[in-house]
Amino acid sequence: MKKQIAILGSTGSIGTQALQVIAEHPDRYEAYALTANNRVEQLIEQARRFRPEAVVIVNPDKYHRLKEALADLPIKVYAGEDALCQIVESGPIDIVLTAMVGYAGLRPTMNAIRAGKAIALANKETLVVAGDLITRLVADCHVPILPVDSEHSAVFQCLEPGNRLEKVILTASGGPFRTYTAEQLATVTKEQALHHPNWHMGAKITIDSASMMNKGFEVMEARWLFGVRPEQIEVVVHPQSVIHSMVQFEDGAVKAQLGVPDMRLPIQYAFSYPERIPLSVERLDFTRFHELTFEKPDTGRFRNLALAYEALHQGGNMPCIVNAANEVVVDAFLHDRITFLGMSDVIERVMQRVSFVARPEYDDYVATDAEARRVAGELVDKGTRTSSFPES
Ligand code: NDP
Ligand code: MG
Repeated sequence: MKKQIAILGSTGSIGTQALQVIAEHPDRYEAYALTANNRVEQLIEQARRFRPEAVVIVNPDKYHRLKEALADLPIKVYAGEDALCQIVESGPIDIVLTAMVGYAGLRPTMNAIRAGKAIALANKETLVVAGDLITRLVADCHVPILPVDSEHSAVFQCLEPGNRLEKVILTASGGPFRTYTAEQLATVTKEQALHHPNWHMGAKITIDSASMMNKGFEVMEARWLFGVRPEQIEVVVHPQSVIHSMVQFEDGAVKAQLGVPDMRLPIQYAFSYPERIPLSVERLDFTRFHELTFEKPDTGRFRNLALAYEALHQGGNMPCIVNAANEVVVDAFLHDRITFLGMSDVIERVMQRVSFVARPEYDDYVATDAEARRVAGELVDKGTRTSSFPES
């Protein structure tokens, strides 16, 4: 029986690479549902090629174009957020790949878990926002979460059943500004930030990588996925991105997973687990790497990493506050409405201003997300109007 896969965000970087994996194994995998937010033409092309049972476009204005373009095929066509949340519950689906970006991934992921689907988790924001809630839900519904994020897939591949972890060591490339001084960081542009040295990814995560918020989020993701305390998670900057992450056991042994930086491997492993199956990614040529280097992350220059650790220590709805503020400032940075360093200033202030909830439930997260977005938006506007950002 072929595994039926729903890809939430099939038109993105992870989504398109997941379709490449499916195309490489048509005997094993089938795309059951494909979804996008806006890029309707790309979704049409994908639907014509992969012939899913259903497609969903979140933006309802694009529905008619999608419906009309697929009228000659037996493909169900839906629009809107609710449709996205419902499609994941379809009976035949085995795996839901959450490859959409941001907080919007939370509700469909929760629905998929409740419907008993295995989750191939790329949308790390879901665990950042509501890690506690998701962990409880997953335990109640007995569904596996298979990490797609390369670091977490690496850790997952290193685990030994029955042997406790002493430490998780997440590697970070350091991004395009690893060697920049604070003065240089003050004037970097979005074009520079969008140019990641090792990975080609969607815009939001690329900015998060440049600011190291991505690594902060990955620390939170690791905390929930592997049940470790924040102080058991270490970040090491490793610019070559050959070691995708490591684990340390109680006897001091360290295991690492290595490979070329190519997301198709972790995506496929989430689909094929516990089996490994062939994949046509480039092989690692050790003679090309004369050295693998490691350094401590600099949380003075990259304050987001420190803010993320702080949010994780505080717990409650604080990570949700950080996530919402981050989504607002990243969007503002991509629209030239805030400076690179101004992003951390706003996040820090939003953390201070939004009401803290120690034991949030779903409705608290929804309210927190809305409040944090509002406060962050006001701070960005204020900075833009007075042009005195980041002061005041
Ligand atoms: P992209 O921006 O490339 O793609 C995002 C996808 O989600 C697109 O299909 C987009 O549709 C869709 N989408 C965007 N907003 C919404 C929304 N509000 N509702 C529904 N669908 C939406 O992102 P990436 O593929 O880079 O990243 C996806 C997720 O995977 C993120 O959470 C990221 O952190 C994570 N991840 C990505 C990695 C990578 O290498 N890219 C590595 C590790 C994790 P449309 O095309 O129509 O806009
Ligand atoms: Mg990663």
